[in-house]
Amino acid sequence: MGFKRARDSDNFSSVETSNSPRHPFLLQRGCQFRRAVANRPAVDVHGSAVVSTRGTQKKGHNLKPKVFVTRPLPQRAIDLLAAQCAVQVHPSDSALKPPQLGEACRDVEGLLAVGVRVSEEVLSQAAKLRVVANCGVGYDNIDVAACSRRKIVVTNTPGVLTDTTADLAFALLMAAARRVVEADRFVREGHWQRWEFGMLWGADIHNKTLGIWGFGRIGQALARRGRGFDMKILYHSRRRSDETLERELEACYVDRDTLLRESDFLSLHVPMTPETHHLIGADELRLMKPSAFLINTARGKVIDEEALVTALKAKAIAGAGLDVFEHEPHLPPDLAKLENVVLLPHVGSATGETRLAMAMLAADNLLAALEGRRPPNVVNAEVFD
Ligand code: NAP
Repeated sequence: MGFKRARDSDNFSSVETSNSPRHPFLLQRGCQFRRAVANRPAVDVHGSAVVSTRGTQKKGHNLKPKVFVTRPLPQRAIDLLAAQCAVQVHPSDSALKPPQLGEACRDVEGLLAVGVRVSEEVLSQAAKLRVVANCGVGYDNIDVAACSRRKIVVTNTPGVLTDTTADLAFALLMAAARRVVEADRFVREGHWQRWEFGMLWGADIHNKTLGIWGFGRIGQALARRGRGFDMKILYHSRRRSDETLERELEACYVDRDTLLRESDFLSLHVPMTPETHHLIGADELRLMKPSAFLINTARGKVIDEEALVTALKAKAIAGAGLDVFEHEPHLPPDLAKLENVVLLPHVGSATGETRLAMAMLAADNLLAALEGRRPPNVVNAEVFD
């Protein structure tokens, strides 16, 4: 992998990440059409027939809609966009703040949003914006209502990350139950002097009860993994699934209290909405078994973290596996000091194959909207009414 740095004399900008030395994406090069974004130059990628790399605009440039991409993406996705659009890529893999994002969107018709907040403040500066293509299935980072008021299409990337995220949820479940991270640390830090019968006991996974809260794509994919481990599957969701699916997944619908009381592993797969904010708090944690584990790959704000830390400290539940946090990347006080929790930096969909698929799908959605077609994954269908 690695990055190539273009020579200054080429008048190209290199794309590199400040905080991610193993960033897998390739160099994206461009020229002119630059704008200061968060004190760093953005990078433009144009269809070569339309704009020269030396800054002279050729005929037809104005016909291409302008698109802003908020982080470096795999080159294939950028190429797909650049075939039809004048593309500007923010060169740093870090979130632009609303004022800078708004400034970057001032003149664009398409925004490919990767890990940024698209707020009213941003939209108010983006008078020409027609589509916000979110690179992610969860879209709680986007003010969808404000987009709809402006007739801006919002899209997301469901499906392509389902199995990858379910894999990670199951990995967290296993790591928490079998103390994988703690055991690894134990070995690395030289504490392993001899084999002991009583060393690092964990909890069994097979034949246990897997509770799933939010039985959509990822929740169902997790149920399939649980069945592979001979787990009993309980679920609770906004509505009950049809009987065929329940039979196929051998999943039993229960009310929320039963789910909380009977699960040995409780995994959360609801979207972040006002209804799911602090879905798990002190009362819910009190209902869980002291031997139970809580797994969260949904969104951090679904759990009241303060209540969770209190429960973990008191061993009111056995442990937790968390990929998402209330105030990412900040952790609540004391969480990182606890041994009975596995902590990941929001990497649910982070595999090479899936991140590429997400970027390509986001690009497809964006292009469809700019062409006046209905994109495959519309979030706010009301804009087409
Ligand atoms: P999905 O297919 O829409 O599934 C969500 C499920 O939750 C649906 O069954 C939905 O019911 C249910 N639900 C919604 N509100 C609820 C409520 N108040 N109470 C109970 N159930 C409720 O979405 P998905 O593709 O599985 O993704 C789920 C979430 O995972 C995303 O929204 C995202 O935030 C998160 N995620 C995280 C990562 C990561 O990197 N950690 C990666 C991918 C996704 P209905 O069918 O009635 O809508």
